[in-house]
Amino acid sequence: MVEKIKVLLIDDDEDDYIITRDVMDDIPGRNYVLDWAPSFEQALDLIREGRHDVYLVDFYLGAKNGLELIAEAVAGGAKSPFILLTGQSDRETDEKAMRAGALDYLVKGTFNPFDLERSIRYSIEHAKSLAEIQMLNAQLEQRVEERTQELAEAIRKLEDTNRSLYEAQQEIHKALQKEKELHELKSRFVTIASHEFRTPLSTVLSSASLIGKYTTLETDDKRQKHVARIKSAVSNLTNILNDFLSISRLEEGKIYNVPSAFDLCAFSGEVVEEMQGNLKPGQQISYQHGSNLYTVNLDKQLLKNILLNLLSNGSKYSEEGKTIYLRTGLANGMATLTVQDEGIGIPKADQAHLFTPFFRAKNATNIQGTGLGLNIVKKYVEVMGGQLTYQSEVGQGTTFTIHIPNTAEV
Ligand code: ADP
Repeated sequence: MVEKIKVLLIDDDEDDYIITRDVMDDIPGRNYVLDWAPSFEQALDLIREGRHDVYLVDFYLGAKNGLELIAEAVAGGAKSPFILLTGQSDRETDEKAMRAGALDYLVKGTFNPFDLERSIRYSIEHAKSLAEIQMLNAQLEQRVEERTQELAEAIRKLEDTNRSLYEAQQEIHKALQKEKELHELKSRFVTIASHEFRTPLSTVLSSASLIGKYTTLETDDKRQKHVARIKSAVSNLTNILNDFLSISRLEEGKIYNVPSAFDLCAFSGEVVEEMQGNLKPGQQISYQHGSNLYTVNLDKQLLKNILLNLLSNGSKYSEEGKTIYLRTGLANGMATLTVQDEGIGIPKADQAHLFTPFFRAKNATNIQGTGLGLNIVKKYVEVMGGQLTYQSEVGQGTTFTIHIPNTAEV
């Protein structure tokens, strides 16, 4: 048996109900059941139950009207279609009805069974199509949402890959750069080595051949002079070799900070003593320890190298007879060491490159050197976790200051 179509008439006039029922009864097939809601509130209650397939709504409903009812019912989730019953047929009512959510309208008193049947059938079909479209739309939105999320995820992954690639590229770039620097360093090593080795080696050669000629007792003075020259040339060579070795060990990351506890004042005294043989005639080192604390916990070997380097520079870049000042101090968990000279100073324009390997200031080209010492000093200070600063005026002198964290309990 075909299921009957349930129609709800919402109309406050019982006569209209009777007329509508009669018209409906005349629809061939008698396939309709008509219920009646005489008021706005009753209608909303019945619509909420959702038992009807279609609603016929009168335009006038007491103080309110059919359009308001349709709007409220639709907002409340009503699914079945609304057909508005109006007093007149005009475009304005038609549009208003559609805007409120009605699917069709019929002009009261004029519609016949055929019109009613057609309108109901049309509205139900239309509502079904609308529901289907809404469902498809929702599905589509859901898929768009899913796709958007997939896309966002893909973009995120792509960005990740991109970032990794960029980082890898940076790493390669850095490695290449390092490789390039190492290569330059090596070729500069060769140039400097061949240049710096030549002078002491020829001294050794000439002094050695002269010693061979001074065979008598009377020439003992001259022999001794040349022996001293050879010793100095060899020690010079050793220094250069040591610098090369230090640089290469620093490059390989093989220089470590190995602190031990010792007396800074006594240690500095020994370094000053060791320097005595390398000073120019008349030069002296004045040493002061400005603290009543003495024990430090630092790497002795690194600190010794640092001080010897700075003190030899102080002597090398000062004239004969000048004083080089060494000051040490301990305060607030910091060891401070200062090496000051009254020498030639470093031109301002050259100061920026001071710690670059092989760099030599313009006013130092006549003085022997490799341009490695300060680079080594700076790196040693860094390995010890400290800082190196300097201050220099051409013709007045240079001061290097080192601050190193000192963990010794004193
Ligand atoms: P080197 O002394 O072998 O040339 P360094 O690395 O020790 O190498 O010093 C680099 C340059 O810095 C020197 O060539 C010199 O121009 C300048 N310099 C370093 N120390 C002093 C100083 N105490 N007084 C003047 N110039 C200095």
